Amino acid sequence: MMRLEGTGATERYSLSHCELAGRFSRSRREFLRDAAGLALGSMLIEASPFVRGESSRRKRKVIVVTFGGGARDQETFSPEGQENIPHMLNELAPQSSFFTHVTNQGILGHYVATASLATGVYETLNNFSAAAPEHPTVFEYFRKDLRRPSSDAWVVAPSNGFNRIGESESRGYGVGQGARVILPKHLLSAAHRGTSVDFDHLLRDNYETPLYTPQLGGGEVELQQLEMILKLSVDDFMAHALTLSSPDELSVYIARRLMKEESPSLLWITMHDIDVAHTGAYSLYIDGIRRTDRLCAEIWKAVQSEPEYAGNTTMFILPDFGRDSDYDAGGNGFQHHRTGDIASRTTWMMVLGAGVRQGVVYDNPTQSIDLVPSLGAIMGFSPAQSQGKPIRELL
Ligand SMILES: [Zn+2]
Repeated sequence: MMRLEGTGATERYSLSHCELAGRFSRSRREFLRDAAGLALGSMLIEASPFVRGESSRRKRKVIVVTFGGGARDQETFSPEGQENIPHMLNELAPQSSFFTHVTNQGILGHYVATASLATGVYETLNNFSAAAPEHPTVFEYFRKDLRRPSSDAWVVAPSNGFNRIGESESRGYGVGQGARVILPKHLLSAAHRGTSVDFDHLLRDNYETPLYTPQLGGGEVELQQLEMILKLSVDDFMAHALTLSSPDELSVYIARRLMKEESPSLLWITMHDIDVAHTGAYSLYIDGIRRTDRLCAEIWKAVQSEPEYAGNTTMFILPDFGRDSDYDAGGNGFQHHRTGDIASRTTWMMVLGAGVRQGVVYDNPTQSIDLVPSLGAIMGFSPAQSQGKPIRELL
């Protein structure tokens, strides 16, 4: 049996997955219409707002924000959850094209799912290994097709286990051709080595399997990154870190430095605070949602205040997948994402900024692997091996 919020109805689980996913997406759409005044996209007939000239493409910036470990509707978009996401609902959603029905049909582990988002193929690598994605990443397509330097594609990643996400092992692509990856916690570990300052709350990693924390070498290289690229002294970095309360705050701080000093055209930020849910502490999970909501709005504000980004940036916000429902037999509720039920697979995506229709909600089905082809269509590169397709409403 499965209960769907918003309808108050109890449905037989014998409904097909497709029908159930459709119901999730439609109730999400109704919540958004009520709370943020979004109009239904399929009712609008208008020309694409995207400007396709070459010069506008050269200046175009794209920021992708993903969260590892999504949140369920009852803690976010549903009437009882809306108090947790005031920024997304009141500031970002009204400016966005919002997709209510994004399905992840792959493996529900954070590294492998994020790798799938970045390649446009459901990757099958071991989630708990520091392995490169098998298929070319969006960063490799972008740099190769558009002949961009390594400084133009960056990833800010939440855990040491993500250190290989920037480039694949695919023939014709691979080493040196993808994104540079920055691991803020690794940077902080390198900076505070030998001091007695307690940064444990910023260094918490991998809530699902706390014992899996691959050790990376290269502390010296990391510290050079800090000073040469981010223009931060170790002392200033440590002083600022003392003012932060979570790993994602640290990631957003680093992302903002990258925007200011390096201004990459393709910037990918993966957050992870919400996944503290695995500890089973509901209040920490809610804190994670509220913080993520605030940080997404902060990134969007940073876009407006950076001359390289203001007016020419498109931002994508999406969870890698959802979490288990309370109603699935064998489900773990908010704590985990182990059953592969509809709640854990049916997620959403918000797109806002340059070239995006504002205040529109779409509930036609899309998939996680459609992100990369959509980015390709917007930025002008060809993700040849991706198995998804460009989302029509973004073109
Ligand atoms: Zn998780």
